[in-house]
Amino acid sequence: MQKIIKIKYSVVIPIYNEEKVIPELYSRTTKVFSGKAGYEIIFVDDGSSDHSLEILEKLNKKDSKIKIISLSRNFGHQEAISAGIDFAKGNAVVTMDGDLQDPPEIITEFIKEWEKGCKIVYGIRKSSKESFQKRFFSKMFYRVFNKLSNIKIPLDAGDFCLMDREIVDILVKLPERVRFLRGIRPWIGFKQGFVKYDRDKRYGGKAKYTVNKSTKLAINALASFSYLPLHLFVGIGFFTSLFSFIGIVLTIIAKFAGIEVVKGWTSTILVILLLGGIQLIMLGIIGEYIEKIFEETKHRPIYIVNKLVGITPNRSPKGRQV
Ligand code: UDP
Ligand code: MG
Repeated sequence: MQKIIKIKYSVVIPIYNEEKVIPELYSRTTKVFSGKAGYEIIFVDDGSSDHSLEILEKLNKKDSKIKIISLSRNFGHQEAISAGIDFAKGNAVVTMDGDLQDPPEIITEFIKEWEKGCKIVYGIRKSSKESFQKRFFSKMFYRVFNKLSNIKIPLDAGDFCLMDREIVDILVKLPERVRFLRGIRPWIGFKQGFVKYDRDKRYGGKAKYTVNKSTKLAINALASFSYLPLHLFVGIGFFTSLFSFIGIVLTIIAKFAGIEVVKGWTSTILVILLLGGIQLIMLGIIGEYIEKIFEETKHRPIYIVNKLVGITPNRSPKGRQV
């Protein structure tokens, strides 16, 4: 009879065209758990168009600890991680990038903090071998986000972290579809731990986060966790209205005082442009929020599963079971 081993640790790794990295990623991650029974490594294939899925399936054939969730298309990094978390069975669930920028060896440190009673252990990027531009925008993002949002996220904490089962159970029940896990994690609360690490260079292949995708993540993050932009409009609107009101009063006074008013075309156009610009920005920001509301009300699943390898479907709150 097959002995059922309880799964203590799950590692969730999103994979999008990482064929060059997977073999090294597998061997380094497995080494971390050598001697530890009861772990699983869940690779979420986010619609890769290279040989990633085939390589993963080969690994699963020789090592039953390797499990695969293959999504029906490319849904995105946050969505892929969400899928992995939904199916993870461990008492502790680690999420880690699949390009070896997050060194798997750090998981040992995460586990130590977890054993001390922390419910979420964050990997904090001490240094990064990323381009200056990427580092600059990333650093700036965390700082601006914390100024604007109604929750605080630990500075320089990416998606590399360990979460206790208690946190994971709450996370999978959260209904929001626009997923910004870095914001959702601290929102849940509980005792938090931090492990500083040096972020490596991508082991192989190309970065999947284009400027476009990174901007989208940042906008999603702000629109999901901050109402300040909306409050800002009221301020700006009030301020400009006040000026217009003063302008109206002055014009009336000038008329009655018989002062010849120069028919200034330039100033008129300037005011129109200024107000038009402000109004467009405001409409745009309102649009961002409406888009988020619309996304949430559609109740579409966050991801769709194409097939599961090595995983018995238990529950999949946000995706379709196969
Ligand atoms: N990824 C994914 N789906 C995507 C984009 C990225 O699953 O649409 C995965 C990717 O394979 C990697 C992780 O998410 O494991 C982080 O992506 P990447 O390293 O390209 O991000 P960057 O380091 O440029 O921020
Ligand atoms: Mg990367």
